[in-house]
Amino acid sequence: MPRTKSRSNTGRASRSSARAPKYVYAFANGRAEGSSAMRDLLGGKGCELAEMTKMGVPVPPGFTISTEAWAAYNAAGKKYPAGLWEQVMAHLSRLQTAAGTRLGDATRPLLVSVRSGARVSMPGMMDTVLNLGLNDQTVLGLAQRTRNERFAWDCYRRFITLFGDVVLSIDRRAFDTLLDAAKQRTGAKTDADLPADALKGLVAEFKGVVQEKVGRAFPQDPQEQLRLAINAVFDSWWARKAVDYRRIHRLPDDWGTAVTVMAMVFGNLGPTSGTGVCFSRDPSSGERRFFGEFLVNAQGEDVVAGIRTGEHLDALKTRMPAVYRKLNAIKDRLELHYRDMQDIEFTVQDGKLFILQTRSGKRTAAAAVRIAVEMSTKEKRIGRDTALLRVEPASLHQLLVKTVDPQAKYTAIASGLPATPAAAVGKVVFDPEKAVEMALRQEAVILVRPETSPEDVAGMHAAQGVLTSRGGLTSHAAVVARGWGKCCVVGAGDVVVEEENHLFRAGRAVVREGQVITLNGATGEVIVGAQPLVDPKLSDEFRELLGWAHERATTRVRANADTPADAAKAREFGAVGIGLVRTEHMFFGDERIPIVREMIMAGDVQARKKAVDKLLPFQREDFIGIFRAMAPHPVTIRLLDPPLHEFLPKYKEVLEEYTRLDARGFNPERHAELGAVKARLEALLEANPMLGHRGCRLGITFPEIYDMQVRAIMEAACEVVGEGHRVEPEIMIPLTGTVAEMKLTREMTDRVAQQVIAETGKGVHYSVGTMIEVPRAALVADRIAQYAEFFSFGTNDLTQMTFGYSRDDIGKFLPFYLEKKLLPNDPFAVLDQAGVGELVRIGIERGRKTVSGLKVGICGEHGGEPASVEFCHRVGMTYVSCSPYMVPVAWLAAAQAEIKQPRSPGGVQPKASRANMKRSHMSRTNRRTKQ
Ligand code: PEP
Ligand code: MG
Repeated sequence: MPRTKSRSNTGRASRSSARAPKYVYAFANGRAEGSSAMRDLLGGKGCELAEMTKMGVPVPPGFTISTEAWAAYNAAGKKYPAGLWEQVMAHLSRLQTAAGTRLGDATRPLLVSVRSGARVSMPGMMDTVLNLGLNDQTVLGLAQRTRNERFAWDCYRRFITLFGDVVLSIDRRAFDTLLDAAKQRTGAKTDADLPADALKGLVAEFKGVVQEKVGRAFPQDPQEQLRLAINAVFDSWWARKAVDYRRIHRLPDDWGTAVTVMAMVFGNLGPTSGTGVCFSRDPSSGERRFFGEFLVNAQGEDVVAGIRTGEHLDALKTRMPAVYRKLNAIKDRLELHYRDMQDIEFTVQDGKLFILQTRSGKRTAAAAVRIAVEMSTKEKRIGRDTALLRVEPASLHQLLVKTVDPQAKYTAIASGLPATPAAAVGKVVFDPEKAVEMALRQEAVILVRPETSPEDVAGMHAAQGVLTSRGGLTSHAAVVARGWGKCCVVGAGDVVVEEENHLFRAGRAVVREGQVITLNGATGEVIVGAQPLVDPKLSDEFRELLGWAHERATTRVRANADTPADAAKAREFGAVGIGLVRTEHMFFGDERIPIVREMIMAGDVQARKKAVDKLLPFQREDFIGIFRAMAPHPVTIRLLDPPLHEFLPKYKEVLEEYTRLDARGFNPERHAELGAVKARLEALLEANPMLGHRGCRLGITFPEIYDMQVRAIMEAACEVVGEGHRVEPEIMIPLTGTVAEMKLTREMTDRVAQQVIAETGKGVHYSVGTMIEVPRAALVADRIAQYAEFFSFGTNDLTQMTFGYSRDDIGKFLPFYLEKKLLPNDPFAVLDQAGVGELVRIGIERGRKTVSGLKVGICGEHGGEPASVEFCHRVGMTYVSCSPYMVPVAWLAAAQAEIKQPRSPGGVQPKASRANMKRSHMSRTNRRTKQ
């Protein structure tokens, strides 16, 4: 066989396309033009077939048409670029020589498979055609050569079905109905029981279907079959399911698919033939055991289509021990070669084994962790860095929460945005208070709301899961539930809540209060009834891998936590500090909310101060608990941020009750009370509360509130220091936009902090910094850094204000934007590096111009999203902060970022930055007590 050794082609066809780029790459008889390194060009399937061929693994001969050819075909409006067809023909002729048969030859026909293959596997998303080359003549030749008439006609009827489905777009059911009828007529239990005559009859019927559906005869010319099949595989890149798969997995559309044309080997030749799929380890647990399925007398599509259920590999061991031994040895070789768990497709033709594909096997998160760690430690096949890179950071989240049993089968009635991967089962309840009551009676409930507000927190906490019909991934429900690792599905637009009727509708389904539903937080699906859930288990391998990540990462990981319990959880998952305590979350709770309301209702400073003072002991207790739980690590506490009306009852409800009492004229006391609340709510009413009287604007206009909070923080810190713990409070000002705001709030904070230090006589090192969440703050960061000792990027608000998208309303248009590719993904989930990220980069650069080594972190929801963590690492952040359940994810993402892009020795290192911080702090303000 003439073989090409370099990129220059030989032979007639290549001469005719002398200038065309090389589009086709051969593999046959131990030689190949491709290799594993050419994955982007040849696709996963094509490159590994080439690699295996060179390794001497028994692979049928064939050739791969590159993704460059696909790109040229698409660019030319679905036409072959010059030279492509000639190269295909030249390689076909070599393949014929290698196989010793010819496409279309009446006595020795070559049959080929035409298979898709992208650079990453997209299982089942694209198309394949088998048995190509059969026609009314070659089927007779095949029957004669194999002395198996039944087999030949079985191949032909399969070919027409697949070709009809994939190439001619005929609904497959048209063929399947005829197949079922034939089985019934002949009394055949399975396809394999159909006799040759019945198959012959079927082929005639199938050809009739083609004629009827496409208005032309089934193509008899094998070269035409080949050309049409290649086109169909090229085009299957754009099939709806493939496009959706890429969108979900964030894969680019321009990679394209390669096409591999390979000589057929037949698993359906009789009892000494068969086909199967095997894994070199258990893909579900990661256990090192040979695992797979085998189907005797069958072709690959039977396994994929689930037409027949495969037998355990042991069946192969019993039926064909020599083949089993050979397969076992090959799987070991392949695993050793690729140093990763392999998913291998094989076919046995008359007792002879062929490998049709190998790839890194898809696996559960638990299996990924176990395989990576065992291959690195016990087996010493891969280094730690490779092990760290082998595990998808986001997948770790699943290992920390309950999830829906992967075996469960169900139909969802609606779906929303998956805010956490946790799953939950419970009775539907619409009223948060009722959720609390039912939970107290040990009933599992799912709280269903149009959206949640801070008032609903108790109900949310009591519920197993939360479902909202509105809101995005940074809506209140999502943020709060994520912090607890609680199941939460938000923005389920199909869910229409009719609270007054105690039901919700989803399409045609009506779900009433008390009915049991399941929320699959990983997918965002809403399911009627209880699905089985599986509990999380933290394996030793998981802990080991996390330990390595801690050692490798240079960006540290903190947690967003509002309570001592959350802080303890965060530490358990490896957080080295708290990056955000949202103090307003402490304002809810039965004892506190009346005092908070008293504070808001106060008519003058005196009255407000009185109420504020009553809150102080509560806040102090919380901080004491958090400091103890997190010692010796730093704790960043943000002063009050949200607009005050969020703490008052809802205006609509107050107005309703007020009007009712007004009309009836009784209970004057309550009437007056409601009147005052109504008036205050009206005074607080803002057209745009997210851009209104909130953040430091609130602290500046009502200084009593921040004074109390700073006092509570410092008194708590002094107390915990007195217990012998190391405490590092970082007091954070929210929503700073101007230097003057920073200067003033810094002075206010220092004044109270110093007072407390003087009163208690305890040395506490504290620092005062700011959130950067208003675009302007990023732009004037150099000047803000004159007064702020650290920055924390609040990328939830920064995204909101940079895009001008309301974080609570993005659900209304986001699905459309994603569908139309107007946005690559939800910018509240994945940091928009080009826009918001640029502001972050500018903010860091300018801040550090003023204070080199300024401590910088992120505390928006992006702090736990792997791609965003990588970005934070690249721009030199000191730490990322995320919900406790995302901490392991962030550590792994940070370690991977360091492996991929090590920080330069002169880059920002956390320790150095802390030292710098202290130095700069001592030189600027010489009034702080050292610890
Ligand atoms: C932010 O805006 O990114 C942030 C952390 O603050 P919040 O989500 O509480 O507004
Ligand atoms: Mg914010």
